[in-house]
Amino acid sequence: MTKCPLCKSGLFLNHIEVTDYAVSKETFILCKCTQCQLVFTNPRPSEDAIQPYYDFPEYYSHGNENKSLTSFLYSQVRKIAIKNKYKLVDSLNSSHSILDIGCGTGDFLSYLQKQGWQVQGIEPNKKARHQAQEKLGIKVSKSIDKLEEDGKFGVITLFHVLEHIHSLKKGLKYIIKSLLSNGYILIAVPNHESQDAKNYGAYWAGWDVPRHLYHFNDASIEYLAQKYDLQLVDKKPMVFDSYYVSLLSEKYQNPKSSIVSTYMKSIMQGYKSNQAAGKSGIYSSNLYILQKK
Ligand SMILES: [Zn+2]
Repeated sequence: MTKCPLCKSGLFLNHIEVTDYAVSKETFILCKCTQCQLVFTNPRPSEDAIQPYYDFPEYYSHGNENKSLTSFLYSQVRKIAIKNKYKLVDSLNSSHSILDIGCGTGDFLSYLQKQGWQVQGIEPNKKARHQAQEKLGIKVSKSIDKLEEDGKFGVITLFHVLEHIHSLKKGLKYIIKSLLSNGYILIAVPNHESQDAKNYGAYWAGWDVPRHLYHFNDASIEYLAQKYDLQLVDKKPMVFDSYYVSLLSEKYQNPKSSIVSTYMKSIMQGYKSNQAAGKSGIYSSNLYILQKK
């Protein structure tokens, strides 16, 4: 890429080299834009070429099976997270219609549907999409391009999704177009300036290259809001993410450590990150609430 995918500036510098520990073991370069501060994976695989990089058995958000302790804990945390997410979207003053982009197997939407919400989902993964369709009894779209057919929504959510979208500009344009006026966009993304990111450096699981094409901080989200005429109304911590990201990072950094030691260290590190974020406001992952002006 010769230009920053967010602000189109040609001024960017090499930031860090990161290995894809989860799948390919390949190394990728990340660049940092000097204008909007966005960090982006560059070069990056094309939309077609990236598919094999998603091919790993432990892609939890798409599975319903509890095979290991980690995935069991993850599913328990997810249940709590769904309730918390529901409380949050319900507190927003919106028409009760929602589009969840990257809805996975549709658990969050199913919860909302039971509360009387009009729900719609987008999920690129075939297996997850079919499960979501079955659960929700609606057609779940494969990609963002089909959005126009789905009408307008009071809330659009992207939980750990925006960093995966190849055409950032086109994607955001579609999303904003599909939002009712005064509607809300909820964006959850990892923050590479968090304490756990700094602690693990190139081993930080939040980089997740090449699947994560963009790596945000507060400044780049603020830039995005301004560029797309959105108002940043609130920022919420995602307190579980620091533990999960620390667990993965710990495995990447010390693959030969015992399970007990890995868990102990990552619990301590996750806690430490949240403590630091209590003062700085920079959590491992943050949820940004943006409103259409
Ligand atoms: Zn930029």
